[in-house]
Amino acid sequence: MEHLLAAWPKIARQFQDARRILLLADYDGTLTPIVGRPEQANLAEDTRQAIRNLAHQRHFKVGIISGRALADLKDRVGISGIIYAGNHGLEIEGPGISFVNPVAEEIQPVLRLVHYVLDRALGTIRGAFVENKGLTLSVHYRLAEDHHAREVERIVKDVVGGVEAVGKARVTPGKKVYEVRPAVSWDKGKAIKLLMKRYGKGGRHSGLLPIYIGDDLTDEDGFRVIENYGNGISVYVGEASHPATARYYLKSPAEVAVFFDILLEQAQKGFRENVSEERNIAHSVLE
Ligand SMILES: [Mg+2]
Repeated sequence: MEHLLAAWPKIARQFQDARRILLLADYDGTLTPIVGRPEQANLAEDTRQAIRNLAHQRHFKVGIISGRALADLKDRVGISGIIYAGNHGLEIEGPGISFVNPVAEEIQPVLRLVHYVLDRALGTIRGAFVENKGLTLSVHYRLAEDHHAREVERIVKDVVGGVEAVGKARVTPGKKVYEVRPAVSWDKGKAIKLLMKRYGKGGRHSGLLPIYIGDDLTDEDGFRVIENYGNGISVYVGEASHPATARYYLKSPAEVAVFFDILLEQAQKGFRENVSEERNIAHSVLE
């Protein structure tokens, strides 16, 4: 992986050539630092302002794709006129789009039952809890002591195993979290593809430049879609040594915010700054 800001001159050209820019990002760990409890993950005011300003730039469509429930995500971000995709893209809302995965909707009553059983089973483990996100569930154990991790895993397997076996749900691991999702062939990558189709009519020759920024396992599907498309920018948030499908990386949500600032500044100039100046920008940021 290459550092995104160090690669700026190359990327600036992609922006310059694009007719539409679809800037998509994950929320937790990408726009906000990872915190103990998900309700504490708040968006910094200047990041919110940068996203709002980017969304107002010509040719830009901005969206946030999260494992959170759609309503929760919208509440936290609080910007109107952008795309929100909740529950890993099972529900999407934005300018000219409103989508709920029909199979996920159908399986909702089963998940409600799973939630009830998981909640009771995890009751004895301090720091582990289930979050009900409507179309999906999240089992969080970041605040549980390390030796409890195995027990959490066993409980999740025991409880979800049955519905998993009959093909109703599936479990995906994340950073100290298990996501219990309906067993539909749907992920952040498919949601991104849907958005690319919606906003980049005419396919590959539409001049669409999709960007996806994410930090976790579920973001890999997104990186893959961007890389397969050919002319896109996939950005992993974390250490360069981490094995990720993304072509570029930024070290932290703070660096993502810096990238947004540079992007905004350059967009306002129509991406026409000369390359040597751009190089200086990238280097001064990296120092
Ligand atoms: Mg994340």
